[in-house]
Amino acid sequence: MPENHFDKIAIIGLGLIGSSIAHAARRAHLAKEIAGHDASADVLERAGKISFCDTLHADIGAAVKGAQLVILCAPVGAYKSIAQAIAPHLAQGAILSDVGSVKGAVIRDVGPFVPAGVHFIPAHPIAGTEYSGPEAGFASLFDGRWAILTPVPGSDGMAVDKLKTFWKGLGSQVDVMDSGHHDLVLAITSHLPHLIAYNIVGTAHDLEKVTEGEVIKYSASGFRDFTRIAASDPTMWRDVFLNNREAVLEVLGRFNDDLKILQDAVAQGNGDLLFDTFTRTRAIRRAIVDLGQDTAAPNFGRKS
Ligand code: NAP
Repeated sequence: MPENHFDKIAIIGLGLIGSSIAHAARRAHLAKEIAGHDASADVLERAGKISFCDTLHADIGAAVKGAQLVILCAPVGAYKSIAQAIAPHLAQGAILSDVGSVKGAVIRDVGPFVPAGVHFIPAHPIAGTEYSGPEAGFASLFDGRWAILTPVPGSDGMAVDKLKTFWKGLGSQVDVMDSGHHDLVLAITSHLPHLIAYNIVGTAHDLEKVTEGEVIKYSASGFRDFTRIAASDPTMWRDVFLNNREAVLEVLGRFNDDLKILQDAVAQGNGDLLFDTFTRTRAIRRAIVDLGQDTAAPNFGRKS
């Protein structure tokens, strides 16, 4: 991996993903200087204590000044105002990228502010946890996981290659796809599962005949895996659903149809249909493990 792939990178938003990029870039010596900015003075102070950036800036213009790579790592709802604020300060030839969980809306919100001579290459690492904030980041977050780049029409091939090399340096495998396809794929693999988890945990909480104490006490029997997802950052996930509405509604419609089929099978005692469905889904779990995207250990390797 090339040492000091960039002279200066700037990370805007120093939470889980921003801090993890800084830790991983340091680990691989990918930049001479890692500059950080966050809108919150409290986050800047906490980031300073952990010390994963070389320089920290309350002024966003100073953070991006002279950077060859700028990565937006704030919630996607903030991208438009950030793009407006940094545009006059971006260096000619710089790469402007991001990590947002949706891509079409990011291109819509950021694209109009990208100055001529700046390479706008949206990206999304498929890696994360349910924790947020600068303390949540760690260097190995992206190891072996996928990062998806969604270049816009006319993106410069050399800049795309340079960003690919950067993500590989962070530990990722890299795929390139169209933003619309990304949003549909992520709607089913990430956004819908989060919506379902938020819903099931909320429903369990609202049930009158089962007490909250019982829900928590007996959670090991399946519920607790949903609670991990449903503990994810509310701001981030609100912005995901506001900004990937069409794709989420498309897969949600499909989900509702399939759920109705399972509901009918339960009502009619159609064991064959239930068995066939559960056999098919079990094979998908095995394929995820075979591809190294999760552990093969029983119960995710938990001790209890
Ligand atoms: P996070 O831990 O909450 O960090 C986001 C940081 O951005 C916070 O420190 C936040 O400050 C700051 N911020 C908010 N508005 C800002 C602004 N206008 N300018 C500068 N900083 C601002 O969230 P995260 O999990 O790292 O997510 C960041 C991005 O990564 C999101 O776009 C998300 O879609 C994407 N992503 C997340 C995951 C995941 O699993 N978490 C995975 C892949 C991609 P305050 O807390 O004070 O608001």
